[in-house]
Amino acid sequence: MARKEQLSSDLKTTRPRRVLLAGGAGFLGSHLAERLVREGHEVICVDNLQTGRLPNLAPLMREPRFSFHRHDIGQPLSVDGPLDEIWNLACAASPPQYQRDPLHTFRTCIQGSLNLLELAREKGARILQASTSEVYGDPEVTLQAESYRGSVNTWGPRACYDEGKRAAETLFFEYERMGVEVRVVRIFNTYGPRMSPEDGRVVSSFVCQALAGEPLTIHGDGSQTRSFCYVDDLVEGLARLMASDAKGPVNIGNPGEFTVRELADMVLEMTGSDSPVVHRPMPQDDPRQRRPDISRARDELGWAPTVPLAEGLARTIAHFREALAEGKRQEAR
Ligand code: NAD
Repeated sequence: MARKEQLSSDLKTTRPRRVLLAGGAGFLGSHLAERLVREGHEVICVDNLQTGRLPNLAPLMREPRFSFHRHDIGQPLSVDGPLDEIWNLACAASPPQYQRDPLHTFRTCIQGSLNLLELAREKGARILQASTSEVYGDPEVTLQAESYRGSVNTWGPRACYDEGKRAAETLFFEYERMGVEVRVVRIFNTYGPRMSPEDGRVVSSFVCQALAGEPLTIHGDGSQTRSFCYVDDLVEGLARLMASDAKGPVNIGNPGEFTVRELADMVLEMTGSDSPVVHRPMPQDDPRQRRPDISRARDELGWAPTVPLAEGLARTIAHFREALAEGKRQEAR
């Protein structure tokens, strides 16, 4: 059987697992939680609700196979009974949010990872770390492969996150050498329904500004590029990586490259908004360019993104339209 077919049939036939999902109330975590529960697994979700929101988990709260526990992974945690897997998605992901309390962000990356790795060692569980393309910093190469070691500022305002995630990778691979089964995914810019409207990430900011008739804020001249991966594609990549034998970090992202200005124009056209575009200074250490080399994910996981930007944007816009309308309905009550 070809590798890709083998993997997808393995994914369909796996026995029900008992998993701990840290950061499950957040944007990516809530989509992953839904998928795991839908596949028949028991999901124990821990989250300190720093950036996550319980309404993200509303569809799961009545599921007997799902439980939520408010907990900060910087504090030790214990779980009764066996655990097959641990997914570590806990960490604020957008710059304004992770910069609000940089020491907490750093502690989440390091002490939080250590606590989960110890739990994985105790339970014999496989553990996946949500790392990030930020480990490449402001890259000097146009396509970032896992072998690229990055260009990261150790003392700038983004360092609490970038260096925290780099140090977390070090911890994960040290535990691998100690016999723990680890998987490390380097996630590139992902977007979709349930992004927080306030978190300052470019897709949610543009969509919310356009729908509210407010100016779209572009930092710099808008010629910096980004690659945007739709959340369903990302979750599929995470599931394949967890089920695979892949060693070392694996990039998951969409290599399609767009300038920030192009994204703004698409959002304006698709929302029918006549909002103007305003320019603001570039934040310090903002990368000029980001584009994943996904050869490893293609070869070893049989994974590639399937949702084009226009389609993913349409679904995201529909989500934010509905959220806005719901907000107005609640205000009127
Ligand atoms: P998010 O902010 O929506 O979710 C993070 C979740 O972790 C939130 O629910 C938050 O409350 C929780 N959390 C934060 N610190 C915690 C702590 N100390 N203890 C317990 N819970 C804590 O972000 P997201 O976009 O869903 O990102 C999820 C993971 O993926 C993060 O680790 C992030 O670094 C990584 N990632 C995301 C992207 C992206 O484009 N979304 C890109 C690269 C990496």
